[in-house]
Amino acid sequence: MTSPFLLYHKIDLPTADVKVRGAFTPPKAFARQLETLIKRGFTFATAGEMAAYFLENGEFPKRTVAITFDDGWKDNLTNALPILQKFGAKATIFLVTSCLGKTTDLVTAEGEGPREHLSAADVQKMSSEGVEFGSHTHTHHHLDKLESAEIHTELRISKQLIEDITQRPCTTFAYPAGFFNDSAKEAVEAAGFQIAFTTVYSGASDLDRFAINRTEILRHDRFMFRFKRKVAGLS
Ligand SMILES: [Zn+2]
Repeated sequence: MTSPFLLYHKIDLPTADVKVRGAFTPPKAFARQLETLIKRGFTFATAGEMAAYFLENGEFPKRTVAITFDDGWKDNLTNALPILQKFGAKATIFLVTSCLGKTTDLVTAEGEGPREHLSAADVQKMSSEGVEFGSHTHTHHHLDKLESAEIHTELRISKQLIEDITQRPCTTFAYPAGFFNDSAKEAVEAAGFQIAFTTVYSGASDLDRFAINRTEILRHDRFMFRFKRKVAGLS
């Protein structure tokens, strides 16, 4: 089964210093990908809307995809938002809240220099325009490596900060680098999230709402035949 949750990171062209380029989707390719999905009759929902539907119906809505972004990069505002708005597409962005307003290398790929994150003001603006914000923890530590108390702190701080900024409930979560275990899943549920996502197409069950797979769209999917192949299994 192809996950109806598409995972993006950066909507940008990689600069010359960037060696690991997979997470960079060129803006033009992103626009073509949205256009392709619309032509095929898909509509867009936020991850939170998908979760609400799932809780009621035990499955995700048909012909519906959720566009998600991990890490909360500034380019999600400068490059992705105008394209999302052009196509009327909803999206969910998973924030690393300690990075808000900063230019850091905390979550950049190896060999890549510091990169700018969304600020709290950016998040507020995008939220008011319909973009959903979820938690990707406070410090991007892999949850399978943390003690239970540390996991709870990561979840509590990030959820609270996002709710303070957006003035909306923060109900969605994405595991840093996709790593989770049973205690992480339990903590996510206990913290009040309705759905949690892994980063890569793992062996996790499609029906475990605290370990939902995503279809990762990478730079090589800028070639339309690759993108089409990747989303061919969406129903
Ligand atoms: Zn991440």
